[in-house]
Amino acid sequence: MAGDADSLEQRRLAALHAYQILDTPPEEAFQEIAELASWVAATPIALISLVDEDRQWFKARVGLDLPETPRAWSFCARAIANPDRPMIISDALADPAYRDNPLVSGETGIRYYAGTPLLDPDGQALGTLCVIDTTPRSLSEKQVWALGVLSRRVVAEMELRRLLGEAARANAELADQARTDPLTSLANRYALGEQLNQEIAKSSRSGRPLSLLMIDLDHFKVLNDRFGHLAGDQVLAGVASCLREACRVGDLVGRYGGEELLAILPNTDRDGAAHFAERLRRQVLDWPLAHPVTVSIGVAQWQPGFSPKDLIRSADGALYRAKRLGRDQVQLA
Ligand code: GH3
Ligand code: MG
Ligand code: MG
Repeated sequence: MAGDADSLEQRRLAALHAYQILDTPPEEAFQEIAELASWVAATPIALISLVDEDRQWFKARVGLDLPETPRAWSFCARAIANPDRPMIISDALADPAYRDNPLVSGETGIRYYAGTPLLDPDGQALGTLCVIDTTPRSLSEKQVWALGVLSRRVVAEMELRRLLGEAARANAELADQARTDPLTSLANRYALGEQLNQEIAKSSRSGRPLSLLMIDLDHFKVLNDRFGHLAGDQVLAGVASCLREACRVGDLVGRYGGEELLAILPNTDRDGAAHFAERLRRQVLDWPLAHPVTVSIGVAQWQPGFSPKDLIRSADGALYRAKRLGRDQVQLA
């Protein structure tokens, strides 16, 4: 039934697209297989052809200048209709199905074609490894067998790249997770530490200012006691969003500890940082939180010779003063 054929073709296309190989640059591993196929079959043309929705695209090609052709011209598109065996056309000009094909009647002048399907591990035919000649001819059984071996090597190369890509993506995701606080989605203490080291190194070289804010929620224990820890979590995540929104590109905000947040502000001096801190304090007051909360903020500017610890200690000292003086305020180191 046409509907079944459509859905099979959709599955085949999905399998092909999952390899993310279409329109990628030439690669030696594939090119060498195509050259070997051309040598094995003693044909001037050999192709690794992937059959896309409307075209066949060549991952590797010997003896042909076209990067792709319309699917309607494709011998391979027909070859994959019978994925369990190679398709061989001894003389295309004598074959009514092919003699009007522009690749046969035109300049390319194809006469002989042998294509072995490229089967993925589920048995889906993604395309073919094919050899082509401009004169009618034949191949020995051994040559056809060798083409089959090479076509399996093509898919093995594709699988390898797919697995490497998946591993790289999983690795990147893990690395990202290891740097992110799950409750607030802000940078965690580890990521903050790394960034602070880098920014201090940069400022040491360039002499550019660098400032740090330490932000602490006021009477957060009371809020937790009154409304419960889950409500507390929501408020903390809300303040984190507020902070993220207030920051500029290049700033890094993170969760240093329980309800203490840090903002690393490169290229910002003490006055600029104080200004930003005051804006942030007010923004928290206006932020739509389930339960209103205020913040106290300590501001410190990096001084030559300061280690990350020195800078944090300095901001922490200013924060303590803000708490002592009544909270809901900004104090400078
Ligand atoms: P202060 O104004 O002096 O900062 O008072 P405080 O109550 O905020 O400070 P304190 O250090 O006494 O208590 C901090 C509270 O923050 C206690 C702890 O339960 C709460 N807290 C820390 N991390 C979390 C969290 O992830 N979720 C929730 N809900 N509460 C947290
Ligand atoms: Mg607090
Ligand atoms: Mg605290």
